[in-house]
Amino acid sequence: MSRSVAYFSMEIGLNPEVKTYSGGLGVLAGDTLKAAADQGLNFTAVTLMYRDGYFRQVLEGQMQNEEGQEWNYFELLEDTGVTTHVEIKGEEVEIKAWKYVIEGERRNVEVYFLDTGLDSNSDYAKSLTSSLYAGDNEFRLSQEALLGIGGARIIDELGLNPDYFHMNEGHSALLTLEAVGEKIFTTHTPVAAGHDSFHKSTVEHVLGSRAEELDLEEGLNMTELALKHASYKNAVSDKHGEVSKTMFPEHVFEEVTNGVHSNTWTIESFQELYDDHIPGWRKDSHRLSKALRIPDKAIWSASRDAKISLNEIVQGELDTGTFTVGFARRSTAYKRPTLIFKDLEELERLAEKYGGLQLVFGGKAHPNDTNGKELIQQILKYGELLEKVDVYFIEDYGMEDALKMVSGCDIWLNNPVRGKEASGTSGMKAAHNGTPQLSTLDGWWIEGHIEDVTGWSIGEDYVEGEDQDKVDSKSIYQKLDHILSIYHNDREKWLSVMKHSIALNASYFNTDRMVKEYVAEAYR
Ligand SMILES: *Cc1c(COP(=O)(O)O)cnc(C)c1O
Repeated sequence: MSRSVAYFSMEIGLNPEVKTYSGGLGVLAGDTLKAAADQGLNFTAVTLMYRDGYFRQVLEGQMQNEEGQEWNYFELLEDTGVTTHVEIKGEEVEIKAWKYVIEGERRNVEVYFLDTGLDSNSDYAKSLTSSLYAGDNEFRLSQEALLGIGGARIIDELGLNPDYFHMNEGHSALLTLEAVGEKIFTTHTPVAAGHDSFHKSTVEHVLGSRAEELDLEEGLNMTELALKHASYKNAVSDKHGEVSKTMFPEHVFEEVTNGVHSNTWTIESFQELYDDHIPGWRKDSHRLSKALRIPDKAIWSASRDAKISLNEIVQGELDTGTFTVGFARRSTAYKRPTLIFKDLEELERLAEKYGGLQLVFGGKAHPNDTNGKELIQQILKYGELLEKVDVYFIEDYGMEDALKMVSGCDIWLNNPVRGKEASGTSGMKAAHNGTPQLSTLDGWWIEGHIEDVTGWSIGEDYVEGEDQDKVDSKSIYQKLDHILSIYHNDREKWLSVMKHSIALNASYFNTDRMVKEYVAEAYR
């Protein structure tokens, strides 16, 4: 009998239609559950419903505007009729659970979405499951009470009695007030502001008498609460483990490096390629290590097909013969989306030398992240200034665009400020499609990078205290020069790097391997 796990996450990204995710954290949750289903594990998941999704990004005069993200939850999810309630701000809030079934290779995993949009609830209570990461602190805590306390009660209503409650990030930590099973906690955030905390008065206002069960002397920190109760705690890369130990020195952290779900993050042309050359890869991602045997011609042809798919989402404006750099993720300062524009003359020089250069960008800024929005604006402005370099920005970046971008670009660029990226996953998606990465040595890339073999590093000689932007941007131009010369003058070497990114990176940085580690170390 396999042990049972209830997996809690504030966001879960299952497919492009189910708009209950904002980015990396949610996609990781979805990929984890798919891998659990493939392996036949006894998993159940809980999240909130978000009737208006996260938000739809509309660019108007280079500025990001946010619109509601309507989606057909009543068609995509099944109304279970199962209900429970949680007291929030003195109101008995009624919750209904909707269900989505992940059909894996070996069993199904059910995902429950909690919805408060019921006639019996007040307008405030109804609004709690309208959109993801919206509202003030009090609103956020109310949502987290729904997820943690309401989620634990729904699990109980469903007659489940899980051995483990896995908290994906601290948002669900209030489940520790209710749930009986053992607790597992995965932290994803090496940035202090990323850890939710609430004033004592807010907690008392939202939770009422339940607040008495918490130690609120210094307010409520959801990460601390999760850490206090979890018997197993982990970070999501080796480097993030080190960072977490310095952030929370009184706790022991294990490291389970993230992965991506191989089937989900491999574009059709590469799926067919693997079906032909690596039988069994869909059930066992490790088999991708055999990719070196795939004929060069077949890899190149799959990659050309992927570039044609990417071209569809930029209205056919790409030149599919021109080298293309991809960069897409949440737009925020530490990810430095405009770093490549630090020296425009250098960029023009590279485009001139190699007969063209295309940059494709995508990513939403959180509605309150003014700086993140300005960065998008700057990308578009630089695009206008450049003459020989063509810059494209894909509006409303989501899972579908992500797959087309990571597979259709020739190189995947990632340049976060060191120590700020817990793991990062989009580069792993790229590797599944033979797209090598050019990245600062942070997060998973410290483990996956072999220079000139799986991809390239940025600013590897950086010394603590130097101006990172200066060192790293200079390095980007040098590396791009080197990369472009391989791409144009040594096709065999280029294909070898593509194949090694599959064989060495995709075969390891996947959720098949990741979930097996959780089974061996956490769920035991
Ligand atoms: C994978 C993914 C992300 C995460 O990208 P990172 O580079 O790991 O930050 C964000 N958004 C979407 C839509 C994704 O698919």
